[in-house]
This record gives sequence, structure tokens and C-alpha cells, in this order.
Amino acid sequence: MPGVTRRSILRRSQGLPGYAAASVMAAAQTKQPEPARKLRVVAVGGHGDDPQTCAGGTLALYADQGHDVVALTLTGGPPPGPDANPQVRAVRNRLDSIKAAEILKIRLECLDYSVGNMEQFRYGTACEITGQRYKEFTELLLDKYKPDIVFTHWPIDFHMDHRAASLLTYTAWLHSGKKFPLYYMEAETGTQTQNFFPTHYVDITSMEQRTHEAWKALSLWYDTVWPLHDTMRRMRGGERGCKVAEAFNHHPQSPAFPALP
Ligand SMILES: [Zn+2]
Repeated sequence: MPGVTRRSILRRSQGLPGYAAASVMAAAQTKQPEPARKLRVVAVGGHGDDPQTCAGGTLALYADQGHDVVALTLTGGPPPGPDANPQVRAVRNRLDSIKAAEILKIRLECLDYSVGNMEQFRYGTACEITGQRYKEFTELLLDKYKPDIVFTHWPIDFHMDHRAASLLTYTAWLHSGKKFPLYYMEAETGTQTQNFFPTHYVDITSMEQRTHEAWKALSLWYDTVWPLHDTMRRMRGGERGCKVAEAFNHHPQSPAFPALP
């Protein structure tokens, strides 16, 4: 879907003289060098690599359009210091996630809700949701990031940290007055995300190579998880009618605009 949809043009051009509407339409048919308004796009994940792997193509498209794109994750903490040992798994994982975000040209900001909860049934602190955590995350997302559009995990997911990210984000969205578009993204559908059904697709064929490069940066996961995501995005591409696509579920009570890229 292009950055400016026909529908959005028609909305924006209501009331314009005919020639003005025509010029808006003509502009939309050429490349958009600068966005009319710089959007704050936030993708909330459980782990430092989730936004990049679940919505990386879409986020990169927004970034290339000149929008401010943040991958915000519950875990990971501050970037490793210069003395950190990259042979330590957690350090390597964090550095890999940073590299993947850099390839996609998006900012990665990791909260420090836990030391990580990498097991299905191990109750790590990232998956804890208390009243206080709902409050602090809501305030953080709404007051610091002031998002215009938000992505997060689908709530039915194998991983507790993904579920926590989804519920925290949903609660913040409710507190916002449902004022920004809320899209759910998928991770390893069938394996992690379950019972997911797409309502929207983004053709990421133009980002096929860049997203693959970002995946290659994730050295701990590339061999085992990339094939799942590659299959998923090709399947979504087939559904969308293009080579590769990312699929999302749009909360129907959230606004349709700003639109997907
Ligand atoms: Zn994850």
C-alpha cells in the first residue's frame, strides 16, 4: 500500500478547488520526499529484536518516508558498555538487536523490565504485570513517546513477554482515549503468535533485501527462526498479491489514519 492512499487523498482534498485536488493527486503519484507531517511510529515488543523481526519492513518504509520510528521493548536494558564481553549471550543478543535496528534505520530503545524471560514457562519479571507496571508503561508510552501509530504483539502468543507487551500497550491505548491506530503484529505464526488473522497487509517487497540483512545480524536466531519468518512473509505476500508482505490486525475501534505505509 503506498504512503498516501487514494482514500486519504480524497479525505484531505475535500473542499479544495478541482485543480488543487488534481495537483494533490498528481503529487501522490510521484515519490514523497518529505512527509507532510512527521509521524511518531512506535512498535512495542517483548524483546530487543521483536519489532525488527515482526514489523521490520513496515517500520523501515516509515523510516524511509522521514518519520520518527522507535522500536520499544520491555527487556534488554541499556546498550552494553565498551567493556562488555560479546561472547556473553545476553551481550551478543543485545548488540545484534542494535545492529538489526541500524540496518532498518530505526531507533531501538529497550526498557529493563527484567533480565530476560527466554523460557516458555519460566516466570521472569518481564512478564509480570502489576497495577504499577500498567501505570508506568502507560505514562511512558503516552507522555514520552506521544505516538501517532502503534504496533505491538498479538495477545495470544506462546511467549509471556510478548503477551505482557501486548496487554501493556493495549492498556495505554485505552488510556489515550483510543486515539491512535493500534496494529497487532505476528511472530512466528503458529509457533509463537496463535489464532491470528490479518486485516491489513503491507507490501514489503522493496524491503526484502534490507529486512533479510537485519535478520542476518541476529546471529543467535537466524538459522532457526529466519526460515519461519521467511515462510510467513512469503505466505502473506501471496495473500496480498506481492512477493513478500507483513500482515497486521488493526483494532477496529482505533483510527484508520495515519495510514500504513
Ligand atoms: Zn520475542
